[in-house]
Amino acid sequence: MRDFSSGCSHLAINSATVKQWSIERLIEECARRGIPAVALWHEDVELVGVDKVRRALEGAGVGLSGYCRAGFFPFGSQEEKSKSRGRNELVLEFAAALGSPSVAIVAGGLATSGDRRKDVDSARAQIVEGLASLLEYSKPLKMPLAIEPLHPMYAADRACINTLQHALDICDELDPQRTGSLGVAVDCYHVWWDPQLKQQIARAGKDRILGFHICDWLVPTRDMLNDRGMMGDGVIDIPKIRAWVEKTGFEGFAEVEIFSAADWWLRDGSLVLDTCVERYQTVV
Ligand code: ZN
Repeated sequence: MRDFSSGCSHLAINSATVKQWSIERLIEECARRGIPAVALWHEDVELVGVDKVRRALEGAGVGLSGYCRAGFFPFGSQEEKSKSRGRNELVLEFAAALGSPSVAIVAGGLATSGDRRKDVDSARAQIVEGLASLLEYSKPLKMPLAIEPLHPMYAADRACINTLQHALDICDELDPQRTGSLGVAVDCYHVWWDPQLKQQIARAGKDRILGFHICDWLVPTRDMLNDRGMMGDGVIDIPKIRAWVEKTGFEGFAEVEIFSAADWWLRDGSLVLDTCVERYQTVV
C-alpha cells in the first residue's frame, strides 16, 4: 500500500467538497498546497467556460482526477431521451477538452414520467442501452466511462446501479474485451457496506478501476444527500478499502468528495482543504 503519511502526491479534491469556492480559487489553493488534481462538475465548468478552466488548470499545473458527470439514462419519453443524450455528449467533449482521465457515470434512477415510473427492471435495461450507445461516442474521444455504483438509498432518483458487482456485470456485457473504455469508480461512501466488496474490487482489477473516492459515513446521517463526513469522522474503514483497491495495482488518486450542507460547506474553505490534507495523511 502506498505511503500517504507525508505530502499529498495522490490526493485529489472534488470541487463539491469546497463548494464555497469558485473553480479558479480551488485550483489556485490546491496548487499552493501541492495537491496535484481536482475533479470538476460540468455545470460549474459551463458557467466559467471550458477554455478559461483549461487555462487555469494549465497555469497552476493542476490536473483532473475525474469529471462529473454523465448518465441519468432512464427516460419516460423520446424527447427526454434525446435531451439527455445531447447533454451527455457535451459532458464527454468538455472532459476531453480538459484532459480528464475519465467521466463519472451516475446511471440514473427510475423514469420520472411515462408509464414505467415503478419499473426498476426497465430503468436498468435503459441504462445498459444508454451506456452502450454512449460508448460509441466516448470511444473515438478516448474518454473512458466510470460507472459509479451509488448506495441503494439513491436507487429511485439517482442510480439504480447500486453494487460494484452490478456495475462490473455491465462492464463485462458491454466491454468484454476489457479495452479500458468502460470501468467503475469505487466511492467508499456508496460501497463500504457491501459484503462482496473485497471480492468485487479484485474482480475489477487495475484496468477497470477508474476512480477511487473517499469521505466518511456519519452516524447518524441526517440528510441522504448532503451529510457526508470528513475522512476519520465516521464508520468507514477507508485504509482497508484502499488496500484492496491498491492490491489490484491501482495507482490513481484518492479523490475527496464530501457533500456537507450543514457542516463543511459552512466553514472556511482553507480549513476544509487543510483538513482534507491532514486526514489524507493520517486516516486514509
Ligand atoms: Zn463519488
